[in-house]
Amino acid sequence: MIFNETKSPLIRAITKDGSARIFCTDNTAIVNKVCSVHQPSNTAAAALGRILAVTSIFGVMLKNKDDLVTIRYNGDGPAGTIICTGDYNGDVKGYIQNPKADVPRKPNGKLDVGTLIGKGNLNVIRDEGVKEPYVGISPIINGEIGDDITHYLLTSEQTPSVCGVGVRITNDNVTGAPVCTAAGGFILQLLPGADEAAVLKLEKNASSLSSVSSMIEKGKTPEDIVAALFDGIEYNLFDRIDTYYKCDCSREKFSAGIKSLGLTELTLLLRDEPGDIETSCHFCGEKYSFSHKEVEKLLEELKDKYRKKLEERKKEEAKQD
Ligand SMILES: [Zn+2]
Repeated sequence: MIFNETKSPLIRAITKDGSARIFCTDNTAIVNKVCSVHQPSNTAAAALGRILAVTSIFGVMLKNKDDLVTIRYNGDGPAGTIICTGDYNGDVKGYIQNPKADVPRKPNGKLDVGTLIGKGNLNVIRDEGVKEPYVGISPIINGEIGDDITHYLLTSEQTPSVCGVGVRITNDNVTGAPVCTAAGGFILQLLPGADEAAVLKLEKNASSLSSVSSMIEKGKTPEDIVAALFDGIEYNLFDRIDTYYKCDCSREKFSAGIKSLGLTELTLLLRDEPGDIETSCHFCGEKYSFSHKEVEKLLEELKDKYRKKLEERKKEEAKQD
């Protein structure tokens, strides 16, 4: 299901001389969905929002329309595991193991995403459906996402890049719930044979750029951010696409999940849970409820399956005798 209220623009541009390309997104609406689904701490919302911006960009870099990309952070910090998946259209979904986990802000007042994530490694998993997925592994540099991804792209994909991401979170006056006021990110990549003078100019532009989230908070668009990064360099805007928070969960998938618990677990579940069996999606919060009757039916299907297997085995054994 696509959540229409999360429409977030993503643009692509390339310099006219082919020295560099850039992807830039304003994913504020997507991060607000994250806030309502996960009810995260402010720092957890920032962590997820930053990784989702990168995931959207990695998504639109995919080659085929059925490909998927997953970024998985395996840090030892209070956040636990973070998993974000994106598709060819840049649509994304995200999960954080401990959404309520929080750490104090840094002395400069910024959310301390690095400490929330901790040390460890990150995986980038590209699934093209046909063969084994490609899995890239890279160390977490400081857990601030931008530097981690820059390092990953250089060492695992041999692409010199600059990744900038940022999320601003405030709290609702009445409920205290986190609200995202600005979120976004860019990935700037040098292309093979990049012109020396252009590279110097890009480095200068990137280092003098104020943070992405502060630019978006001031009302700047992704086009404005690209214009600042490509200042003094001729470029072409490729396209502007709308990306969304999107989840592929369904009742069928959840009933398959219940079935996969197995005979013993299902029997215990029916014995110990007097009411309906309530489940909810870790990615989008959608709730799926199953009555005892429905679960009993799943249990019967499982028993049937085992019976058939047993009969087949007996037949095999009879043949061998
Ligand atoms: Zn879902």
